[in-house]
Amino acid sequence: MGNFFKDAPKSDLHVHLDGSLRLDTLIDLAKSGKIKLPSTTVDGLNELLFKDNYKDLGEYLTCFGYTVPVMQTRDNLERVAYEFALDNLAENVFYVEVRFAPQLHMNDEMDLEAVLVSVNNGLARAQSEFNNSAAVKNGQKPRFIYGIIACAMRSFGKFSNYYAKFLDAHPFSSKTRVAPLASYELAQGVIHIRDKLAIPIVGFDLAGQEDGFPAKNHWKAYQFVHENFMHKTVHAGEAYGAESIFQAITELHADRIGHGYYLFDKNRIIAPEILDKDKYINALTKYIAENRITIEVCLTSNMQTNPSIGKLENHQFAQMRQARLCTTFCTDNRAVSKTTVTNEIEKAVKAFKIGPAEYHYLFFDGFEHSFYPGSYIQKLEYVDSVKNYYQKVAAKYLQSPVENR
Ligand SMILES: [Zn+2]
Repeated sequence: MGNFFKDAPKSDLHVHLDGSLRLDTLIDLAKSGKIKLPSTTVDGLNELLFKDNYKDLGEYLTCFGYTVPVMQTRDNLERVAYEFALDNLAENVFYVEVRFAPQLHMNDEMDLEAVLVSVNNGLARAQSEFNNSAAVKNGQKPRFIYGIIACAMRSFGKFSNYYAKFLDAHPFSSKTRVAPLASYELAQGVIHIRDKLAIPIVGFDLAGQEDGFPAKNHWKAYQFVHENFMHKTVHAGEAYGAESIFQAITELHADRIGHGYYLFDKNRIIAPEILDKDKYINALTKYIAENRITIEVCLTSNMQTNPSIGKLENHQFAQMRQARLCTTFCTDNRAVSKTTVTNEIEKAVKAFKIGPAEYHYLFFDGFEHSFYPGSYIQKLEYVDSVKNYYQKVAAKYLQSPVENR
């Protein structure tokens, strides 16, 4: 098969910037910022922090305790974003929507605008270099396009300078009430900055601990971005079941779902009013399918945070595929999950025996269900350019080129 999966044009719609740093950059930035790491070598970090397998979500999240602290200055954010775009381009990921929680990076030196501008500068620099290269100029390769997704947190502690101040300023608000206040503030901020500076902030997301912190608490923030024509995605069904996905869709207007892993798991439904759980799951699945609500599937990450899945063949992608849901493979965290889009797709093809007739899942669904920053016509033209490029790659590697959809 050669390098077919690497050469084919890909997208990544679910990837966290703070989980996707180059490890040598992390070491470099920690050194200059005098931030202590468990090891100062890439091998050491791979052994102690960035593992192939994790005990649970808690151990997985430990990594962010080291990456976020080095992303607290304009220069560092720009560098991390720039290198992130280059790493994607190195494996022909031509379209990426990168997400992060801006409030985790706000401090006395950087307000919300400074955080977003810095990340955007890094991405825009990589974009301009690539799109002005000969291969793109003469039409050999599609352009690189990116969007930014701003993450609100379902709950937070004093994780950052901003969150610490926010908690101090709201001493009478409980943990479940204070996070929605911060998400509503973020929603208003990102719409303001998107419109003022024309930065491609294309989506709003909700991340963090799902259990005990229901999505619907963040209704106000989502309603605000909804009214301002921003797309919505929600981490849901990663640790909690179908009800969480239902809330994301019905209360938060989600266009896409991050993970959606436990959609088909009856045991994860806890609401006493749902008496017939099979009927509920079937009806929700039909709704997701008919409305083409896209599931951002992160295979490696799911295996790492839910080791009880056992082997990849047991992953609920099998049921998603059977139900003909719209899915796209994503990395979640290139560094923390030690993965690439190419790797995710290769794993999926092998575990689920996906043949060329279904390659549209792998290569086109992400582009088609992206929160593309330009007009709809521009999006269609861009998707066409990607499909044309795909045909060239398919002709090179596959015996008969796969039919265009
Ligand atoms: Zn995620």
